[in-house]
Amino acid sequence: MSTDLSAVMRVADRPPVVMVEGHGSWLQDEDGKTYLDFVQGWAVNCLGHSPDIVAETIAFQARRLINCSPAYYNAEMARLARLLADASGLAQVFFCNSGAEANEGAIKLARKWGVRHRGGAYHIITMDHGFHGRTLATMAASGKPAWEALFEPKVSGFTKVPLGDLDAVKRAITPLTVAVMLEPIQGEAGVYPAGDDFLRGLQALTRDEGLLLILDEIQTGIGRTGRLFGFEHAGVAPDILTLGKGIGGGVPLAALVAAEPVCCFEFGDQGGTFNGSPLMAAIGSAVVETVSRPEFLAAVNANGEYLMAKLRALSSRLGHGEVRGRGLLVALELTGKDAGKVARTAMDRGLLINAPRPDTLRFMPALNVTRDEIDQMLVLLEGVLRVT
Ligand SMILES: *Cc1c(COP(=O)(O)O)cnc(C)c1O
Repeated sequence: MSTDLSAVMRVADRPPVVMVEGHGSWLQDEDGKTYLDFVQGWAVNCLGHSPDIVAETIAFQARRLINCSPAYYNAEMARLARLLADASGLAQVFFCNSGAEANEGAIKLARKWGVRHRGGAYHIITMDHGFHGRTLATMAASGKPAWEALFEPKVSGFTKVPLGDLDAVKRAITPLTVAVMLEPIQGEAGVYPAGDDFLRGLQALTRDEGLLLILDEIQTGIGRTGRLFGFEHAGVAPDILTLGKGIGGGVPLAALVAAEPVCCFEFGDQGGTFNGSPLMAAIGSAVVETVSRPEFLAAVNANGEYLMAKLRALSSRLGHGEVRGRGLLVALELTGKDAGKVARTAMDRGLLINAPRPDTLRFMPALNVTRDEIDQMLVLLEGVLRVT
């Protein structure tokens, strides 16, 4: 390794490796070592590294219009907003640059709606172990135990309940409650599904109580679970939906999507210098059009089933635990092994996987990963599990 890293702020425990190039499921470091990538920029590169469609869209749009200021409409913003509104069954879209910013917008929109329709109610019920981002409000909304003592004073107004416990949600509702917010599958927590029945129960409950249902689909959206949106599996309809990660195919793009009656921002309430730029929006449209094709989603489902079946077989062969997930968001629970150590050994052997918990490995390959790449991953993983 020859790159000078001393000016890079140390915010993560990164291995001493510098990445320089990536294509499809393969990533390469500056020493020429290649890695089979089942992390994919944290489930961001839904079409793999540097896919042609993204590279070509960037080149084309960059020569046409990169940014015309958020003070003006642009054609690409309108096109992607229409695509997302139609696909989700919701009405309007605000574009952002990160998932946390989309969730921050969702919280603001719910609070505004609470002022308009619920006498100023602003409390949002969120889930233990949930993850919504790293801004002050989204950290407060998250249910990560390690964050409880950080960055005081907290943004107030979040009540946590256990995932899947509808009675706990009911008990947590007060006159100050405005919304319930959760991920259809908790990704960072270690791939824990909320459960379709719980989501349907929440939809009925929030409707009966006159509350908003906010779904954070930053990780589960854009084809990750085998449907364009995770909520489609449960047949529910959120009032507010947030998207990020895969929607940009690797570039910083996220979206806040809301049903018509919820769209109550007044001019000046929400905005941002880079929000809805034609360059990012053009990329988003190319990605969403690609991922939403029925044959593309069918392949995500088939490969997800295949990956999970193979992981279950591997797990029972080696005496490990549960395999959880949907589509290509999958976790394997380990027995008697440190997942972080397994992930480090895997990296040494040219495989990138993530350990969201000390006993859990997470797999989030490109959505267009091939069977052959899944097979190669399984061979590498089995080797690693046998020696770690
Ligand atoms: C990654 C993630 C976020 C945060 O997105 P950033 O782009 O990192 O700000 C929020 N919610 C969920 C469910 C996520 O997976």
